[in-house]
Amino acid sequence: MRILLVGNGGREHALLWKIRRDAPGAVVYATRPNGGMSPLCEPVEIAPTDVEALSGFAASRAIDLTIVGPEAPLAMGLADRFRFKGLPVFGPTKAAARIESSKAFAKDLMREEGVPTADYRVFTDAEAAEAWIRDRGAPIVVKASGLAAGKGAVVCATVEEAIETARAMLDDFSFGEAGREVVIEEFMEGEELSVFGVTDGEDVVLLMPSQDHKRIGEGDTGPNTGGMGAYAPVTPATPALLTEIRERIFRPVLQGLARRDSAFQGLLYAGLMLTDRGPRVVEFNGRFGDPETQVVLPLLSSSLLDLLVAAADGEGLGRIRPRFREGAAVTTVVASGGYPGPVEKGLPIDLSAVQESDDVMVFHAGTRREGDRLVTSGGRVLACTGIGATFAEAAERSREAAAAVQFDGATYRSDIGWRELARSST
Ligand code: ATP
Repeated sequence: MRILLVGNGGREHALLWKIRRDAPGAVVYATRPNGGMSPLCEPVEIAPTDVEALSGFAASRAIDLTIVGPEAPLAMGLADRFRFKGLPVFGPTKAAARIESSKAFAKDLMREEGVPTADYRVFTDAEAAEAWIRDRGAPIVVKASGLAAGKGAVVCATVEEAIETARAMLDDFSFGEAGREVVIEEFMEGEELSVFGVTDGEDVVLLMPSQDHKRIGEGDTGPNTGGMGAYAPVTPATPALLTEIRERIFRPVLQGLARRDSAFQGLLYAGLMLTDRGPRVVEFNGRFGDPETQVVLPLLSSSLLDLLVAAADGEGLGRIRPRFREGAAVTTVVASGGYPGPVEKGLPIDLSAVQESDDVMVFHAGTRREGDRLVTSGGRVLACTGIGATFAEAAERSREAAAAVQFDGATYRSDIGWRELARSST
């Protein structure tokens, strides 16, 4: 089998690691692989967003399946181009990917399909936004409608902060095109949950739910990031809750998209808030979450590739029941100093003190190889995943590995999964 993986972050390293286990004999190509991916794949010097060149490559190499990691190529229509050329691809069309690339589209769809989510309004005019914020009061959430690399949502504690944020987006273009339209929504109280659904547009297979930690600081403080760590399983996500999530959230959304000629094939990610009124949607993404993938895939003991092939073919997905290892997984992201602000790149990384094993894996994100040296190349550098029989054991392995990573300015949160720890010790 010949596979093309598009993307080069921590999520794609985890996808590559799992695909290699599922299909040891497969030839896997990856676009501009990072320092951890390059020993596991055939590198392809094409940008993930160069749709034309990628479809040409897939056709010339007779690729059996192209798997798209990041959102940008999907929002640009990569899957449409591949399907048009008859090339098998796992990922939604541009129209279906609007569920992530336009928060206004996603919110309107949820309202029309009766999917539980925060009350909201969409604005392009700052005066009108200000009036609604004053009327609703704080806390309140202001979001750029377009793609903003996980940083376009601002939870505002006061009315003044919310007005200022909306004005900055709408009048001063602080988020560029992404913030020309803003969604302002009710603040939801609760614990967050990430659920991955592999879908062919009709059937959906839900994977084990996980929990992400978006804030930079311990105790979930400070600005939002792309994600500083994650763990699975999450105790409140019982089988009954998962059934409710499938029936009240995934099914109506998939049916709604299909009815709008935008059937969604690929990975539908639901970011949920577990409120006292039940699970409610914070956002949808059209791809695997990062760093949640780095805990969900190490626990998946059955084949991921079979799921992705069935979804892309539109055949047999409903018959597959994924299996998961007993125990828990925790991943701790090691970031560059200054992240989520500007960071220095090109710093040498020393991993000699990290002991990788069946229970400890290091997924690379912002790394690259310079000859035989490994150097930093981004804000989130590595994700250290620990597996254990219990949550506490997994968390300790993950933290120990993160502590053993060495490069100038390396930082990480040592409290990933603090809610689960509090639950397991009561
Ligand atoms: P990403 O795509 O990287 O997950 P994003 O920029 O699309 O991020 P959201 O996921 O919508 O933005 O929001 C980011 C975070 O802000 C959420 O994970 C959540 O912690 C918080 N948040 C967003 N909306 C709400 C809300 N209505 N109530 C409470 N918190 C919220």
